[in-house]
Amino acid sequence: MGQNVLKCSSETIEKIKYFYGDYIQDSKPPSSLFVAKSPECTITAYRSGKVLFQGKNAEEEFSIWSHEGMQTNLAAEKKKPEKKGRYMPPAQVGTLSVIGSDEVGTGDYFGPITVCAVYISSSQLADLHQLGLKDSKLLKAEKINEIAEDIKPKVIHKLLTLGNEKYNDLREKGMTQGKMKAMMHNQALRFVIGQLDGAEYDGILIDQFAESGIYFNYLRGQPEVIKEKTWFQTKAESLHLSVAAASIIAREAFVKEMDQLSAEAEMELPKGAGAHVDKAAARLIEKKGAGYLRKVAKLHFANTKRAVQLAEK
Ligand code: MN
Repeated sequence: MGQNVLKCSSETIEKIKYFYGDYIQDSKPPSSLFVAKSPECTITAYRSGKVLFQGKNAEEEFSIWSHEGMQTNLAAEKKKPEKKGRYMPPAQVGTLSVIGSDEVGTGDYFGPITVCAVYISSSQLADLHQLGLKDSKLLKAEKINEIAEDIKPKVIHKLLTLGNEKYNDLREKGMTQGKMKAMMHNQALRFVIGQLDGAEYDGILIDQFAESGIYFNYLRGQPEVIKEKTWFQTKAESLHLSVAAASIIAREAFVKEMDQLSAEAEMELPKGAGAHVDKAAARLIEKKGAGYLRKVAKLHFANTKRAVQLAEK
């Protein structure tokens, strides 16, 4: 039986509640906000911001929301509070030489996952800032491409793209999306470190998608795990330009890939995982057959089932 826990904002919890509206139960534990029981997954949201997914489809349902919160481990928290600070970036992180990494596409039904790691030394910071590099959330979509093209020749970086067919293969072999992400971050970081050629770095800053314990658990057994001087922080793109750059390069690559997939599908494949995506996927099934989804979508998302139902109507 799967169990996944996500720490969410109250806004995301509202979205989740709305999404599972048909399955909300009348009774709930006192510390909870709501309990929803869908046929193969029970979702419990707690006042603390934790949302627990349990049951056969826990991983699938969790994956719809995993990009909106941080994966945490309830059991470990109860046992031993994590050594505070070990994986926290120092206060002056923004002024240091850092390798930053971030990913895009994990919550989108259509399209790949892209992960990028970027090295930016303290002496490059002013120049890159001048170029307009900042938190991608503060940038318009057109500006993202422009800045990505400007910065790519100037920074040591590695971009990895996990296409849909490979993603679906790995998922069917039982690999969780969290593990795929962790492996991609680790691989991109390894590559960048290998390219540094003597350049020094003060630390590695990963835009946090899982608690450090969960992240390193995913990497257990990998031949080379980057762990020294590694920091985790949510919304890290606002802390250091390297993460901002990683996020921008990963986003540009994701958007380009989506344009390519849309051209091949001869219809626009939308971002996200909402009802508009179900409709587009249903249209795609009608055009190209259900088998086509394997090439362009993350099949284990609940969107697949809903799209098949829509297409059958
Ligand atoms: Mn991120």
